[in-house]
Amino acid sequence: MKDQNCIFCKIANGEIPSTTLYEDEDFRVILDMGPATRGHALLLPKEHYANLFELDDKLAAKALVTAKKVAARMKDALGADGFNLVQNNGEAAGQTVFHFHMHLIPRYENDGAGISWTPGSATPEEMAEVKRLVDEK
Ligand code: 5GP
Ligand code: ZN
Repeated sequence: MKDQNCIFCKIANGEIPSTTLYEDEDFRVILDMGPATRGHALLLPKEHYANLFELDDKLAAKALVTAKKVAARMKDALGADGFNLVQNNGEAAGQTVFHFHMHLIPRYENDGAGISWTPGSATPEEMAEVKRLVDEK
């Protein structure tokens, strides 16, 4: 299914032009218009799924295999020193476009891209509580 009002549906299906690094029957990989680093790309399914939890299982598996293949090519071609795969779900997690996508972000020594968090702390009791809640589901 496509969503008429979704910009990534239009880009993934070629209705809106994009700089495409890879395409097959299920996915398109495009350059991000606001890149964190040189070569920052987005993997988009051609069908509309709002986020990871809606994504079809077979496509979820293929998404990672496809990201791996394209990321390896990009890393070589661009001379990247490292690589981040980032995938946001929900506003609280920084998702701004509600069509599943995976960020493919080449990393370079001292590139300054702020893809990190400040480590917090968790007591053994808090960790046990988290485990209990997840185990119950
Ligand atoms: P999110 O924050 O939802 O994980 O990521 C959305 C990403 O999509 C952002 O990195 C943003 O720069 C990119 N983006 C949003 N609209 C467009 C667009 O129309 N074209 C392209 N190429 N990238 C877009
Ligand atoms: Zn869509």
